[in-house]
Amino acid sequence: MQVTRIDRGHGTTTPEGVIASAIGLGTRVSDVLGIVSGDGFARFRAVPVSGKDSFYDALRGVAMIGVGAPSHQGADGDLGMLETTLHEGTHHLIRRQTGWPGLPAGGQPGIVGEGLAQVIAGATMALLGPDERTRTRGWAALDPRGQFATIGRKRLPLSLSMQELHTRGPLLNDGGGVHVHGGIVQNAHYHLARASSLDTMLRITGEAMRGELRRSTGLRHWATSTLSAAERLYGVGSTEATQVRDAWSAVQLQLAG
Ligand SMILES: [Zn+2]
Repeated sequence: MQVTRIDRGHGTTTPEGVIASAIGLGTRVSDVLGIVSGDGFARFRAVPVSGKDSFYDALRGVAMIGVGAPSHQGADGDLGMLETTLHEGTHHLIRRQTGWPGLPAGGQPGIVGEGLAQVIAGATMALLGPDERTRTRGWAALDPRGQFATIGRKRLPLSLSMQELHTRGPLLNDGGGVHVHGGIVQNAHYHLARASSLDTMLRITGEAMRGELRRSTGLRHWATSTLSAAERLYGVGSTEATQVRDAWSAVQLQLAG
């Protein structure tokens, strides 16, 4: 696959523009974006900025992509930037779809928003077909054993709802740990994609996002939403519905029924 340099200079670009300039635009990418939202990443802007940090400014609807981040450097740097842009773009898409009020600049969109940003970016990278190293960067594993969510050396009390998360006073750093908890969402969707297919996982994800995602949606609510989405698309008791249930079981979250 031919990879050319992304314009790291001034100005703005769209994820589609980044994709087109980084990698020959495949129709499957449009399919992914189309599955998730009717108008994809419309009106989303990404601005390359100096420094290491990338974030989505919900008030302005603009993502800042830090070109100085280690993952944005070196031979795979353009792919890293693409993945980050897709991640921040998903925050924009969720904000638009759910009608969430603008979050403060740098504010966190919650457990599910963070998890889905990883899911959509990772899945798109996988569909684009970069090497395994890049693909695994989008699928960080997380093991929420017992009462804790853990990722790397971070270990936080597990919150199954956003309300629960917000009661964790001492943990308000990182919005109560949305990036750690988002990893559980990411991991469950990864299990689902492995058991079914990327396309099936994205279809179920898109259906759940359109139908049931709210600002207050926490882990358990989202898990239930993906099951209902699979049941609407494929039927109650379908193979896909069972695969959704199994995917959440794999990250220690059991669904009733
Ligand atoms: Zn994020």
